[in-house]
Amino acid sequence: MRYYESLLDLVGNTPLVRLSRVAEGVEGLLLAKVEYFNPGGSVKDRIALRMVEGAEQDGLLHEGGTIVEPTSGNTGVGLAIVAQAKGYKCVFVCPDKVSEDKRNVLKAYGAEVVVCPTAVPPEHPDSYYSVSDRLVKEIDGAWKPDQYSNPHNPRSHYEDTGPELWEQTEGRITHFVAGIGTGGTISGVGRYLKEASNGKVQIVGADPEGSVYSGGTGRPYLVEGVGEDFWPTTYDQKICDRIIAVSDQQSFAMTRRLAREEALLVGGSAGMAAVAAAQVAREAGPDAVVVVLLPDGGRGYLSKVFDDGWLTQYGFLSSASDDTVGDVLR
Ligand code: PMP
Repeated sequence: MRYYESLLDLVGNTPLVRLSRVAEGVEGLLLAKVEYFNPGGSVKDRIALRMVEGAEQDGLLHEGGTIVEPTSGNTGVGLAIVAQAKGYKCVFVCPDKVSEDKRNVLKAYGAEVVVCPTAVPPEHPDSYYSVSDRLVKEIDGAWKPDQYSNPHNPRSHYEDTGPELWEQTEGRITHFVAGIGTGGTISGVGRYLKEASNGKVQIVGADPEGSVYSGGTGRPYLVEGVGEDFWPTTYDQKICDRIIAVSDQQSFAMTRRLAREEALLVGGSAGMAAVAAAQVAREAGPDAVVVVLLPDGGRGYLSKVFDDGWLTQYGFLSSASDDTVGDVLR
């Protein structure tokens, strides 16, 4: 019989898929690492499993304990899956810009969800960071993974995602492109690939215009899960050879193209990373093997990126003369 003992055995080992139609002008290979093949539907299953196992080993999480985390959704799903398999409770705290679809998914897994305003600074008592800190103090047996400072976050990418990419491309990867949220993905994968290639693989961060990583002040942008208004310790500030700022409009246009032209129904941060990756691949020439990581699937964003009314509300469908938007409207 061929079966898995637990859903947790299905975390990682995601496939690489070639991007062709959205790669006009690209002479080399542009490959996508499609993280929605993880059981919880995103790259965050990887760090959720590692952070919980780390906490168990370090004696921070005990039987019957509660996991409390500020999360934009994906880390919550990953933690909820791991918590169920291991018998823990979950309370998640999200900013109100996170789509209702995403919050309902967390509830469906049996987690409790607390919603906080987006438009307050991190140090404000109502911010989702502050509220989660308070809940950790109030709840007995609570443990906060804190994906923004937990070393198991970048470590999971250093030990798993990076080696997967190196093996899948038979060491021929020349560029790795990813969005930066906590920075765990790019820092862990980047460090592994730099070491494996003696510094040859170029690490390129994709960042929403306005975020600190590409020189902005922190707000506002609409793409979810990437960009920050502070510098998390999980981000290695020396890892990127280059950071490309991408507008919401470009991100959403590419996100819709990925669904319509490549049959990849992915989230806005995947579209954002793909914009940067296509640019890198166009500039890199025929021998390049550019890999872009697509963090999650698009079903959590049907009422946003994939909804014409929502795009129009933010002005992304009004300027039809713009080529990028023309693609969206097709
Ligand atoms: N995209 C989405 C949708 C995410 O949820 C995240 C994680 N916050 C990222 C990208 C960025 O990944 P990382 O935190 O590893 O930088």
